[in-house]
Amino acid sequence: MEYKSTRGQAPNMTISQAIIQGIAADGGLYVPDAFPKLGGDWEALGKLNYQELAYEVLKGYLHNFSDEEIKACIAGAYNDKFEKSEIVPVVKAGGAFFAELYHGPTAAFKDMALSLMPYLLTTSVKKEGEDKTVVIIVSTSGDTGMAALKGFENVPGTEVVVFFPDGAVSPVQERQMRTAEGRNAHVFSIYGNFDDAQTAQKKILNDKEFALEMAEQHNIKFSAANSMNIGRLIPQIVYYVWGYLRMIEAGEIKAGDKINIDVPSGNFGNILSAYYAYRMGLPVNKFICASNKNKVLTDFFNTGVYDTKREFYVTNSPSMDILVSSNLERLLYHVLGDGDKVAELMKALAEDKHYEVDKDAFSLFSGAYADESEIIDAIAEMFKENGYLMDTHTAVAYAVYKKLGDNTPTLIASTASPYKFGDAVSKAIGKPIEDTGVSIPRGLRDLDKKQIVFTEAIPKESMKEKIRNEFEGF
Ligand SMILES: *Cc1c(COP(=O)(O)O)cnc(C)c1O
Repeated sequence: MEYKSTRGQAPNMTISQAIIQGIAADGGLYVPDAFPKLGGDWEALGKLNYQELAYEVLKGYLHNFSDEEIKACIAGAYNDKFEKSEIVPVVKAGGAFFAELYHGPTAAFKDMALSLMPYLLTTSVKKEGEDKTVVIIVSTSGDTGMAALKGFENVPGTEVVVFFPDGAVSPVQERQMRTAEGRNAHVFSIYGNFDDAQTAQKKILNDKEFALEMAEQHNIKFSAANSMNIGRLIPQIVYYVWGYLRMIEAGEIKAGDKINIDVPSGNFGNILSAYYAYRMGLPVNKFICASNKNKVLTDFFNTGVYDTKREFYVTNSPSMDILVSSNLERLLYHVLGDGDKVAELMKALAEDKHYEVDKDAFSLFSGAYADESEIIDAIAEMFKENGYLMDTHTAVAYAVYKKLGDNTPTLIASTASPYKFGDAVSKAIGKPIEDTGVSIPRGLRDLDKKQIVFTEAIPKESMKEKIRNEFEGF
């Protein structure tokens, strides 16, 4: 197993090198050159607990980790940091199966990967004999920031720098980040949107002069905890296999039957992990890519045209307020199989904000979107009819399931606790979320009592300068 850049110009890497590096030197993203196979013995896999299944799914990707290392990483990640012993409960409601991915420390699905990633990174650092401090630069639409701060909290040899769009995340998300407690935490809001933050972040990560300066003067190496890092995607494959097995267990499907997988998408990392599960042998009929009003992915799957020349909306599902979905580049690579072609498309996107492909090559995916009132209606209806509470992002997926679902049993990625977007949810159901009987996640309790530490807002152009200043004393 080797990892290749989607743009074909950077050297191949081992998984440990790719995780440390974060992004490829040619601006591309690292992808596996082959997919390990699950084997299809669903009965045997169905007997495993989450940690054991994680080992079976991950071992093929972590090709230069020993069995002991992989097991230690998994044991460190998936334990009582999660509020449910099964880690990911799978709940049937309104005809679909919801994989609840939000029972980790920060109450969003980003915890699924970012609980494991610090262990993957520190093991990789040891393996590669890297002696520099790893500074993890994070751009976030709201949830990755806190999940990274928490996952890497006080991990020796790491510093975490987070940039989030000022005024465009939920009040709970903002409060979480501004009160982060790690000694290695650095948090800033920027005057700009998530796309601005991610574009600047990628530029900083590919700035060879800056990298040299920071390495020579401060013994620092940059990495990324965004889903541009392959170490973010691999852990997310596990819960799609897990969800499938729970659907067999519930008698909804028989072993080997196909399912639909429906994912509320922004940067396209979560649904891409589902696609990796499919490439490993998970039986999938179709992928449903659900968007909010920033429906650039809906248009892509319906027309083959990716076009970011459009208005950007701040919505009630802020973690999906994205126009440049970074991980679509990986799907382009896997489907087109041609790094030069991908490089050409990404150049067109950067220069003309636009590219076009043959949409028939992507027919395994279908896309639709839900606007703000459809989101609110979906939450209200689900709660009224089934007593089941969804957050605004999960509600996007459910509203789209109603539009695109067929007779195929469907697994929906439920990506955040309703408490993380409590204002919108309370409004939808017409009463305070506290009165629903659903208890507040551990990680969000006492948030109002925590001290605000980070108050600085900066222009989007000064992210690099800010990083330079921040590590002057290193
Ligand atoms: C990040 C996020 C998404 C979007 O996931 P992508 O991997 O970026 O497509 C959806 N919902 C929530 C709650 C999120 O935090």
